[in-house]
Amino acid sequence: MKKIIFATKNKGKADEVKHIFNDLNVQIISLSDINESIEIKETGGTFEENALIKAKQVFDRFKLPTIADDSGLIVEQLNSAPGIYSSRYAGEEGNDAANNEKLLRELKNYPHPHIAKFVCAAVYYDGKETFTADGEIKGRIIDKERGTNGFGYDPLFVPENYEKTSAELEPEIKNKISHRYHAFVKLKNKIS
Ligand code: IMP
Repeated sequence: MKKIIFATKNKGKADEVKHIFNDLNVQIISLSDINESIEIKETGGTFEENALIKAKQVFDRFKLPTIADDSGLIVEQLNSAPGIYSSRYAGEEGNDAANNEKLLRELKNYPHPHIAKFVCAAVYYDGKETFTADGEIKGRIIDKERGTNGFGYDPLFVPENYEKTSAELEPEIKNKISHRYHAFVKLKNKIS
């Protein structure tokens, strides 16, 4: 069976993407499955550049076809911030509570609705071919966190056509409408 490495240590993300690739005859192995810690600097200027940096670095290490992604939140009233800096918006990498607090602080003086979207760039790299695909989910940012599922900005994000936040939605539903889902389904169709 063809093996593909998924350049992520995030188990939730890995499960989400393994599920999407279920119907292909491939084995997706994430960095957490093989307990590898590779320090990857996201030095790109776009989501796509960062995803490609991750994929190439992991490909160089394992010499196996690799998929990677980079994603983040774009808020209209904040001139597209936090964007590629989503995971370290408040300074410290991966501090969701501080990031959410900063987001609310920055939006305090703007009128509702705070239109926003999550975007994701997914890439495949095997040393020769590169495929890229993107996905997004539109929605709005609310004033107070609601829900405990998910991660990141989920408690503040209400997807378009929904009343619940992404952190209140069942994971099965969130995973079927997410930016990552759309990007990886498109990517799968390009490589299969
Ligand atoms: P990365 O693609 O794992 O680097 O994600 C970057 C950052 O974007 C995360 O740390 C979160 O702050 C935010 N983010 C990306 N996807 C989601 C999501 O599905 N829900 C909430 N926050 C997200």
